Amino acid sequence: MTDAHLHLQDPRILNTESIIRSMRKSGITRCVVNGTSPSDWEKVRLLAESHPDLIIPSYGLHPWNTPCKENWKLLLRDYLTESNSLSKVLPCIGECGLDRWITDYNMKAQEDAFNYQLDLASEFNAPITIHILKAWGWFLETLRDRQEANGTQSLTTERGFLLHSYNGSTELIPELVSAGAYFSFSGYSLNTDKANTLETFRHIPLDRLLVETDAPDMLPPAHAISHPLQSTAGYINHPANLSMIYQELAKALGLSTENLHAHIAKNFSTFFLKNKT
Ligand SMILES: [Zn+2]
Repeated sequence: MTDAHLHLQDPRILNTESIIRSMRKSGITRCVVNGTSPSDWEKVRLLAESHPDLIIPSYGLHPWNTPCKENWKLLLRDYLTESNSLSKVLPCIGECGLDRWITDYNMKAQEDAFNYQLDLASEFNAPITIHILKAWGWFLETLRDRQEANGTQSLTTERGFLLHSYNGSTELIPELVSAGAYFSFSGYSLNTDKANTLETFRHIPLDRLLVETDAPDMLPPAHAISHPLQSTAGYINHPANLSMIYQELAKALGLSTENLHAHIAKNFSTFFLKNKT
């Protein structure tokens, strides 16, 4: 079982080693740990170094952390170059993206950071994980501008991109699919007030679907929590809740859990692992 997106380096996760043991015990075989700023990339790298069979490191500048001191670009390139030298994993980029949900956002800084990370994804043919919140028009415009400038067929990279915790509309799916998008489902969308998102996932092609916890964020509703976890800031999402998210998503899509597992395993390997030709 694979988790396409989480933040094991988050300081709210205490006892990381015991959490990782629970993850393994619950059947998780691979997860992608996303850095969000230069301040957490080293922690991500060390986690992956200690658990190379489980953790795929991903390095990115989250839109909430823009603008950032200019040397982040060189530093990010260094982390990706190091990842690229490892035998089993690809250099992964993310979490990056565009966000108009936060207050006082800096559009220019977000756009600059996002474009730089898309450029790196092309250069390394890297899996890139994208966060888009209240910014779908802006995102599509950015991709179209890039397509015009590069004159390429694909809007981003040959490998495509992952829209993590997809929250866009059903209508956008065809354009995003042809641009190379994968879509990951987070347990938070099992909340009753997120019924629209769950409905949207019924329209996503099965060969573009992934599942994530986004732990310690995106807490699922009580019925989908197998591993309650408290931090000083209240309840947080335990990464081992993943298995419940698979179960609930399979039910919602009218698939057997085994069938969903098989699709996700294949998609995860196509997008994130080195065996793609
Ligand atoms: Zn995240």
